[in-house]
Amino acid sequence: MSATDGSADGAADRAACPLCAADGETVLWRDGRLRVVAVDDADHPGFLRVIWDAHVREMTELDAAARVHLMEVVFAVESAVRRVLAPDKINLASFGNVVPHVHWHVIARYADDAHFPNPVWGARRRDPDPARLAAQRARLPELHRAVARMPQANQAPVHPAD
Ligand SMILES: [Zn+2]
Repeated sequence: MSATDGSADGAADRAACPLCAADGETVLWRDGRLRVVAVDDADHPGFLRVIWDAHVREMTELDAAARVHLMEVVFAVESAVRRVLAPDKINLASFGNVVPHVHWHVIARYADDAHFPNPVWGARRRDPDPARLAAQRARLPELHRAVARMPQANQAPVHPAD
């Protein structure tokens, strides 16, 4: 494949990409390079996504500083989820098989959630207790505020604010 073919494919990819043409996202934090969005998942409260703004397919297409920045934000989001929700486990995942645009899922997991110990995309194991789900969901405004207060990287190292 020639370079010309590659760039034409890239333009077509971007035009069809739901993360480039993002619509209706709940953006909690952004810094001009990436954004953190809340995912509305009925079974899994505490599901956030860290999305690189530019259409990049693989982590290794980012330069080293950009990779470090991206992962620092992923870890800052993970810390906020741990502190506010205290889940049984955090899942970090990056696939891009369906949407080949670099993004990381940060997911609070509970031993009694709908899919545990499977991935949230795996086989459903149970119907979660509605009262438990409601209690977890009630913490989401606090989580979203904590993520929104994360400092910008150009101001200070990225750590979730208290
Ligand atoms: Zn894209």
